Amino acid sequence: MRRNSLRIALPAAGLLMTFLAPNSNAAKSSRSSGGDGSGTTVVIDAGHGGYDRGGIPGQRVSEKEMTLDVARRLKSVLTASGYRVVMTRDSDTFVPLGTRTAIANSYRNAIFVSVHFNSATRRGASGIETYFYSRESLPLASAIHHYVAGGAPSENRGLRRRGYFVLRRTNMPAVLVECGFLTNPTEAAYAQNASYRQKLAEGIAAGVRSRNSVASARSTTRVATAESIPLQPYIDQTRVTSSKKSRSKRSARKSTRRKKKKTSSKPAEMEARVASSDREG
Ligand SMILES: [Zn+2]
Repeated sequence: MRRNSLRIALPAAGLLMTFLAPNSNAAKSSRSSGGDGSGTTVVIDAGHGGYDRGGIPGQRVSEKEMTLDVARRLKSVLTASGYRVVMTRDSDTFVPLGTRTAIANSYRNAIFVSVHFNSATRRGASGIETYFYSRESLPLASAIHHYVAGGAPSENRGLRRRGYFVLRRTNMPAVLVECGFLTNPTEAAYAQNASYRQKLAEGIAAGVRSRNSVASARSTTRVATAESIPLQPYIDQTRVTSSKKSRSKRSARKSTRRKKKKTSSKPAEMEARVASSDREG
């Protein structure tokens, strides 16, 4: 069923992308004048690295390898478009989150793109999601999500606002893109395909290039505003379903009570999660 709906959705997405494509004159002039003509530095952040493999314990496909590969491809595409590119890591090394944001913050007129892949204990969880935090990051997030989710044969999990460390501590437009679930057999297979990773990189690059035009195309598309995207609590929503499943063994009454308790979870609890979690994305 999913496959059928994808076949229908893809040509539609293609049409939409053609419709929304930045005007070709602007694209041409940006190529000839280097990047978008404003001397923007793109800081590319390949998620995880070194002993931090990313993902969940026992995950077969290593997130850190996939993020580095997409990041390197993104670097090539953006460099070819005339952008100055900086990588927070360009090898299999562990770089603390604070170092990543410090690298980014040392550049003027920069934008920050963090590349990740998702994971969940529920194998069925799938799709692309893009995160931003500050208001100034919304056009970039919106554009990247538009091209990455629009060009991928995966579910569109939407644009989300969440206070990831690298998004909160970078003083520039900053986006974290989750390029699919490596714990989902179909998406893991996609991710292991080099041409698919190239497509992801090109989608992200298209978002970088058109970050201003996509956001301003209000008349042609419903562009999200910061107000329409509430701040997401720092809980791993991809794992909610599997915990529901394990609860189903208990009595219905008990599970309803637990559910109630969960929805009223205190902000303090979320803060504690933020504080205790250095690993993210
Ligand atoms: Zn990650």
